[in-house]
Amino acid sequence: MTEAKNRNVLFVVFQRGNMSLEMLIIGAGPAGISMGAEAVASGIDSDKVLILEKAPEHSYMIRKFYPEQKLVTANYKGQAAVCNGVMCIPDYSKSETLSYLDQAIEKHNINVKYQETVWKLEQLKDGSFYVSSDKGEYQTKTCIIAIGMMGKPNKPDYKIPSELNGKVHFDITSKKIENAKVLVVGGGDSASEYVQYLSQEGNAVDLSYRKDSFARMNEININSLMALCEREKTELILNSNVCELKANGEMVEVVFNEENIPNRLYEHVVYALGGSTPKNFLKLLKIEFSGEDDQPVVKEGYETSIPGLFLVGDLSAGKRGGSIISAFNSSHEAMKKICTDYLTCKI
Ligand SMILES: Cc1cc2nc3c(=O)[nH]c(=O)nc-3n(C[C@H](O)[C@H](O)[C@H](O)COP(=O)(O)OP(=O)(O)OC[C@H]3O[C@@H](n4cnc5c(N)ncnc54)[C@H](O)[C@@H]3O)c2cc1C
Repeated sequence: MTEAKNRNVLFVVFQRGNMSLEMLIIGAGPAGISMGAEAVASGIDSDKVLILEKAPEHSYMIRKFYPEQKLVTANYKGQAAVCNGVMCIPDYSKSETLSYLDQAIEKHNINVKYQETVWKLEQLKDGSFYVSSDKGEYQTKTCIIAIGMMGKPNKPDYKIPSELNGKVHFDITSKKIENAKVLVVGGGDSASEYVQYLSQEGNAVDLSYRKDSFARMNEININSLMALCEREKTELILNSNVCELKANGEMVEVVFNEENIPNRLYEHVVYALGGSTPKNFLKLLKIEFSGEDDQPVVKEGYETSIPGLFLVGDLSAGKRGGSIISAFNSSHEAMKKICTDYLTCKI
């Protein structure tokens, strides 16, 4: 069938009653939820706004990667805790943060479909989008991608032997680690928070970081880490680059690049190396990328090179990384642009 005929078939399908939307949002984290809230607060009918989330619950990244007792700081990574839109948080616990996001979905009557994965997104001749998932087909005037960066946590470039399955981790909620000898690898806020959490769980935790100081860590996390070092609860292995993991009986043998650092044995190794832009997904949508680090192009109001298609939250936060409040604010900016150029906003 020719492409033109294909498109005609699509229109017939929609005329037969498939869902026609003003806004379809992919991803129900802080960015996706606040995008829904901004849309409804701008007077868009909530029946015409839909979020598709691939996980069984919203804010899946927060559930999976935040330690249970974590303090969720409003000024994460030193970003100003200033909210411009309809959603805002102070410093909260993890459960308070999740419950705030629950309430936002409820208050704004936002439709979220869980465990639904988008397969195809295509712009039609009239500028709207055809979106197909494993569970349905949609036509939408605007489309917002809010899938964050942690769908694929960064992994080291050396191979991890399969015998170490269950002993090497990229988050700390998939398996309970208690009373064990653990190495955390990384130097950002997540690395410090993992060390703090694992120490609370009775583990003896070391931290390996490739630099000699923690320039990417906030003050609270540096101070907490230093306090643990002073109490000899954790050992910092600075200027260290892990280059190999080997199975050694029941233990993980960690090999460092530096000749002065002998191999060490741990029961578990946890990587906190951040996440990376899901390039394959975005390139599939034909979004333009540019620059040395090949990042998606975002214009005013977080619009991509494709008119009507927006990237909000961590995805558009650049190298420095995002925060919950910056995700909320990006949705507010995107909504302003959408109201100006695409949808009739009543408020
Ligand atoms: C360990 C750690 C600690 C942090 N601590 C703080 C803090 O204290 N304070 C703070 O402000 N920020 C903190 N952050 C950063 C903050 O969590 C992020 O900036 C924020 O969650 C970004 O929101 P988002 O909606 O863009 O992405 P995410 O929170 O990553 O949400 C993306 C959502 O999209 C879903 N998704 C992914 N792919 C798809 C797909 N293909 N289809 C459908 N759905 C999909 C995911 O399941 C998820 O629910 C921390 C981050 C980490 C990793």
